Amino acid sequence: MPNTQVSIRVNIDNMNINNFVPIQKELIKKWSGKNLYIYPGILRMENQNGTELSHAAISQWEAQKLFYELRKNDIIEGGIYPELKCNEGCVATMNNVYIIGPKGEIYKCWNDVSDNSKIVGYIQDANLTNSSLFFRYLLGSKFYYNQECRECFLLPVCSGYCPWFRLKNQYENGKFILCQCVQKVPNMLEKCLEDWYYKPNINLQIQ
Ligand code: SF4
Ligand code: SF4
Repeated sequence: MPNTQVSIRVNIDNMNINNFVPIQKELIKKWSGKNLYIYPGILRMENQNGTELSHAAISQWEAQKLFYELRKNDIIEGGIYPELKCNEGCVATMNNVYIIGPKGEIYKCWNDVSDNSKIVGYIQDANLTNSSLFFRYLLGSKFYYNQECRECFLLPVCSGYCPWFRLKNQYENGKFILCQCVQKVPNMLEKCLEDWYYKPNINLQIQ
C-alpha cells in the first residue's frame, strides 16, 4: 500500500516540549522518502481532583503558541490563520462519529475512554444507557448555547470550546480555560495578522 500515510504522534508535556523538533527530524531522516506525518500530541494531565490541568501539562494557551510556531515555520501542516475548515466540531458533537471500546462500549469523546461513568451505550444494545451525557455532548456543549461564543467575532471560523472541558466546568467543578482559539491567546491575533500581511504571494484585493 504505497499511498498509505503513517501518522506518528509524539506526546508532549512540559518536560519534553523542546524535544519535538529534534525527534521529528530524526524520524524523517530515518524513514526518508516515506509518507510520514509526525505531529505533537499535547498530553492532558489534570490535578488530583480533575478540575484543572496539572503543572506537568502544557497549558492550552502555551500549546496554541507551540502550534503557531510549528505551523509558521512549516514544521507541521496547517495554517496560522483561521480557516472555515476548522469549524466542523469534533467527535463529541458529531452525530455519526463514536469511539468504541474493547467491550463494545461507546464513548462520545476519546478523553473518556476507560471511564465507565462516561459510557453512553453499547454497540449490541438498541438504546443508549446514558442518553443525558450523550445529548450533553451532542447538543448541550454547542457554541450556540454559549454567550461568549455567540458574541465572538471569530465565529464561524472557530467551532467553539472543547466540549469535554465545557462539561467538566459545567457539571464537575472544573476551572479549565475554555477558549483555546489561537487568535484569543494574548497578543497572538496581532502576530497572526502580521504574518498574514507579510506572507509572500498574497493577493489582497481592497474594494
Ligand atoms: S474564539 Fe473562543 S469565544 Fe470565540 S467562538 Fe471560539 S471558543 Fe468561542
Ligand atoms: S470533546 Fe474535546 S477532547 Fe473530546 S473529542 Fe472533542 S475536542 Fe477532543
